Amino acid sequence: MFTTINGKKTSEEIKSEIAARVAKIKREGGKIPHLAAILVGNDGASQTYVGAKVKSCEQVGFESTLVRMDADVTEEELLRVVEDINANPEIDGLIVQLPLPKHISVEKVTNLIKPEKDVDGFTPTNVGRMALNWPTYVSATPFGIMELLKRYQIPTSGKHCVVIGRSHIVGSPMSILMARNTDPGNATVTLTHSRTKDLASIAKTADILIVALGKPGFVTADMVKEGAVVIDVGIHRVPDASKKSGFKLVGDVLFDEVAPKCSAITPVPGGVGPMTIASLLYNTLLAAEQQVYRP
Ligand code: NAD
Repeated sequence: MFTTINGKKTSEEIKSEIAARVAKIKREGGKIPHLAAILVGNDGASQTYVGAKVKSCEQVGFESTLVRMDADVTEEELLRVVEDINANPEIDGLIVQLPLPKHISVEKVTNLIKPEKDVDGFTPTNVGRMALNWPTYVSATPFGIMELLKRYQIPTSGKHCVVIGRSHIVGSPMSILMARNTDPGNATVTLTHSRTKDLASIAKTADILIVALGKPGFVTADMVKEGAVVIDVGIHRVPDASKKSGFKLVGDVLFDEVAPKCSAITPVPGGVGPMTIASLLYNTLLAAEQQVYRP
């Protein structure tokens, strides 16, 4: 029998903990955490993600500011808005929703965000601090996965962790976090990607398999060791005539056939996804309380 790692429930618990801390800040007349989000253009998925982030801010009692900009905004104009937010003492955390239009350099924009306000943990300073195991904002999805492993008391020390996918936002940071001398952590990590040879055999040696490659149902039962812990980061809409919406959400793992082999597994939806927003809120709380970068 496998454990379903319930990210929805855990994220609600984390949000309640954050809301309690915000209530205490309010009672004591302290600074209410304030998150600013910049959304460029009209991409549907980005609007949904940013909308959910703003709504979650309200849920826990944070203040939020949404700056919407047209898709044809100039790079200079966007950089100016980032600078304004950097300089605004009322705002504790800033996120710039990706992807950005092609004419804007993601590197330039990311690099301009003040590390003290970079609650997405995307700036070179904060990625470097994460690699060094210094206090920092760990990017939201990897942070959420680490929190799930911690709260479900999944042993990681000395285990073989295979990560599939090497993106800057999920796979690469996950490989660093799992290898650090921390708990969770202390795993022996293999980072795999699109050029990896015989991925199925490598995946099958994993005690912990973290899957973030963006291909629906890629991981099948024959790629998973008996008793493994599987963390599925992928999220995809696939057509499903039986649903009112006409689609269902699935992950990178073929859940129904893989789950029976696992000791624990995250479902999609309701696994890693909800943890991402909870982690962003947590980072914003740390920023408001100046817990990472003390003045
Ligand atoms: P990405 O497209 O940036 O990176 C995919 C990685 O997978 C690349 O490093 C590539 O080398 C690797 N890859 C591609 N094909 C492969 C193959 N056949 N074998 C092995 N490796 C292969 O993806 P991403 O941004 O990391 O996102 C991955 C998935 O996770 C997507 O489905 C995305 O929607 C989802 N996601 C979910 C959340 C969440 O909050 N739940 C957050 C971020 C991403």
